[in-house]
Amino acid sequence: MRGPLDVVVIGGGQAGLAAGYHLRRLGLDFAVLDAGAAPGGAWRHTWDSLHLFSPAAYSSLPGRLMPPQPGETYPDAAHVVGYLADYEQRYELPVHRPVRVTGLHRAGELLRAETDSGTWQARAVISATGTWSRPFVPAAPGRTEFRGVQLHTVEYRTPRDFAGQRVIVVGGGNSGAQIAADLAHDADLTWVTLREPRYLADEIDGRALFDAATARRRALDEGRADTGGVASLGDIVAVPSVRAARDAGLLKAQPMFTRLTPTGVAWADGMTSEADVIIWCTGFRPALSHLAPLGLRGPRGHIPTTGTRAIGEPRLHLLGYGDWTGPASATLIGVGRPAREAARAIAALLR
Ligand code: FAD
Repeated sequence: MRGPLDVVVIGGGQAGLAAGYHLRRLGLDFAVLDAGAAPGGAWRHTWDSLHLFSPAAYSSLPGRLMPPQPGETYPDAAHVVGYLADYEQRYELPVHRPVRVTGLHRAGELLRAETDSGTWQARAVISATGTWSRPFVPAAPGRTEFRGVQLHTVEYRTPRDFAGQRVIVVGGGNSGAQIAADLAHDADLTWVTLREPRYLADEIDGRALFDAATARRRALDEGRADTGGVASLGDIVAVPSVRAARDAGLLKAQPMFTRLTPTGVAWADGMTSEADVIIWCTGFRPALSHLAPLGLRGPRGHIPTTGTRAIGEPRLHLLGYGDWTGPASATLIGVGRPAREAARAIAALLR
């Protein structure tokens, strides 16, 4: 049994590290438990060609600007991993890995985190486990009949694995567009989206998205009408690879197929297409199963929060899963503010 500490942070990706930065500044006694084998959170697992959609200076955690990546306006995922590894060293964040929290329980005055390598106790907990470990694939008729390969975004690495194959990419968000663009030159690609792809204007990158999220937060904080935030701008950031493939006419989206067949898919007009591989770029859900013992789940699988604090358990804060834990809190630049709010609220609670 370790602890009791002031705070246990569950998850050592960018959100967990931002929390650690603020807990350290407030002088709290804490540990970060991370299931990952090495620093970097989800950025260690993305596909090879992934680049941020903001320049380095707009992708920073609190306290330390991300240095630019030589030769790249938009850093790649490996650069982000290097930055996060450096960040946790620089601020001497007490990250323990690999430690997976399997269940968080109430234990009188304390919260008890059961892990795959022992038990930790703390007076408060910040959960920052991200979404990468909970890929979402929609129910689709015939999915179990298809005899080819089905993957999710999380399993895709490089177009080399699919050279010459008939690949159907499903999804009209950033992952779908980027993976379709990645495959457009090497594979026999079909890109399928629920609705016509909505590209953001070419000159818009993550900076404008952050500004939109900030404007929305201000409007809501001040009781003004919802500005619609990021979603009002479009679904797909026209990063250079997407723009190039789109402008070359290689990114023509088809409406969704109606079902999978043993050898491919069937379309609404009754026609069929053969496929070797289907890649589901259909999003993620928050990784919250370790919180199940607290019985806090609300609608849509989210835990109801006010700011970052769980309404049903004031000693628990959630960070980074999506806008419901703070505007832009699932981005590098956006997580700093909710992390600070969570750390301050916990410091106040423990005083
Ligand atoms: P993660 O990075 O997923 O970290 C969570 C950590 O918690 C992991 O290390 C995991 O191992 C650990 N964990 C999980 N469960 C447990 C458990 N039970 N116990 C202990 N540890 C656990 N954001 C930007 O700012 N700019 C971008 O350009 C950008 N591009 C993106 C592109 C893609 C394809 C995706 C999917 C996201 C992108 N994002 C971007 C969004 C966001 O920055 C990332 O999703 C980011 O990884 C979220 O950080 P996180 O710390 O919340 O979660």
